Amino acid sequence: VTYPGVGTSPLLPTETLTGKPLQNGRLGPCDLTPVYLPGSGTGSLHPYTKRAWDALCVMAVADLKVTLTATDLAAAYRSFAQQETLFRSRYQTVYNPLTCLTTYKVWNGVKWYQRRGTAIAAVPGTSNHGFGIAVDTAVWLNGRIVSVASQSLVFNWLLREAASFGFSWELNSEPWHIRHMVGNDVTQRVKDVEAYLAAVNG
Ligand SMILES: [Zn+2]
Repeated sequence: VTYPGVGTSPLLPTETLTGKPLQNGRLGPCDLTPVYLPGSGTGSLHPYTKRAWDALCVMAVADLKVTLTATDLAAAYRSFAQQETLFRSRYQTVYNPLTCLTTYKVWNGVKWYQRRGTAIAAVPGTSNHGFGIAVDTAVWLNGRIVSVASQSLVFNWLLREAASFGFSWELNSEPWHIRHMVGNDVTQRVKDVEAYLAAVNG
């Protein structure tokens, strides 16, 4: 199975309060909106992604009675420092065949070998989490954060519905990782959900 969007790149949001291009992992408070992530606390996302994520969460409740969340606090916007910590926990510069895979990434001209038993991580400064447009999606179920990939009903719903909110997948190896593809655009689906909420809540 290839998930929708694998092999394509997202449009980055260009509209910032400062008018300057977004710097990966170094977004200012004006380029981030707080997002409540059940089980973890308050993370943040780029405002356009936040709108799409909120609408997606509303429809997950409406369609499935399921609460979506992120796998942890750094699974929405992730600062450069957080990405660096994650990267260093999964990759090392000295190749050891017992503990490393042969796959490596190049960071600042140096090869970093992935440790066995870890998921891949982007080189610091290159993750879509650093633009606040990616969410490692999970399900908040009976007071626990549960992998979205383990919930086939939810995951199949996400596969069908995510695109209409502007989300798609980056890698087949990361079913939990969705990113907002449409930059400053707000999809009709998101507008419809917002209009419905405004009507219901007066
Ligand atoms: Zn991710």
